[in-house]
Amino acid sequence: MLDYHLHLWSHDQADVSLRLQQIADYCAAASAAGVVEIALTEHLFRFVQSEPIVAGLFDEEPAALRVSMRQYWDHHARNDLDAYVETAVAAKRAGLPVVVGLEVDYYRGRMDAVADLLDGYPFDVLLGSVHWIGAWRFDDLGDEVNMAEWPVRRVDACWDAYAEAVEELAGTGACDVLAHPDLVKVAGYVPGHPEQWWDRLAEAAASSGMAAEVSSAGWKKTCNEQYPSSGLLARFAEHGVGFTTASDAHSEDRVADRSDDLRKLLASAGVDRLVAFDARKPRSVPVSPSPAGSASEGRS
Ligand SMILES: [Zn+2]
Ligand SMILES: [Zn+2]
Repeated sequence: MLDYHLHLWSHDQADVSLRLQQIADYCAAASAAGVVEIALTEHLFRFVQSEPIVAGLFDEEPAALRVSMRQYWDHHARNDLDAYVETAVAAKRAGLPVVVGLEVDYYRGRMDAVADLLDGYPFDVLLGSVHWIGAWRFDDLGDEVNMAEWPVRRVDACWDAYAEAVEELAGTGACDVLAHPDLVKVAGYVPGHPEQWWDRLAEAAASSGMAAEVSSAGWKKTCNEQYPSSGLLARFAEHGVGFTTASDAHSEDRVADRSDDLRKLLASAGVDRLVAFDARKPRSVPVSPSPAGSASEGRS
């Protein structure tokens, strides 16, 4: 098993620290749950280097969402990407089972600029994530301004816009793994028949060569379901899309969260291999068995 989606910092924290010991602690927690390798994947929007990419991107958006996004950026984009990467590389050099990654948030029409920025860094794996439609952070469950949008929008149109964003993201080849592939369901708004969107998401991943992330994080959200839904997982498998596994933890106590449940899910879909990455090149690894006495189930 892998935990290929880990954050060092909670969203509450603005200015943050980088400590090798925290990464060592993450590795120890992962190992106890039978997870053999982790990827550090902090958000690109945590770093000042994201500012030129986002400049002007939301100028045409509704005022309330535009202002909310500006505040979000001011809070999060305070850290240095070089220092983050240096710390991750140092952890790897110290022999920890870590790969150097980033959660690359989708920037409509600007993925070439993102690719240019990231090109000079020694990343092993880049996660592609769609967290917003226009300036609407549809997954920011704790934010009133953004959550007020769900009841007044058509669910089908939201899923269309999400699928379109994933299709563009996948088509650019800028990232290696489609993170939380059906995140659009996070607030519990799901069309009666989501099959047509599942088909689009599976085809986008397959045609781009991206792997798909199987994540336990959705079990903690309003949707109360892993990403991806079983129907989408089956479609990825049918299309020959590779898989990573992930917790999307923002703290040590959530590292490898519910990895036994992810194992069962993969087994039920007939998946017995995962895809790990080195220098953005895929490498097939087995879904390792659950360790005896694993404490991963029942973590809070
Ligand atoms: Zn994400
Ligand atoms: Zn994340």
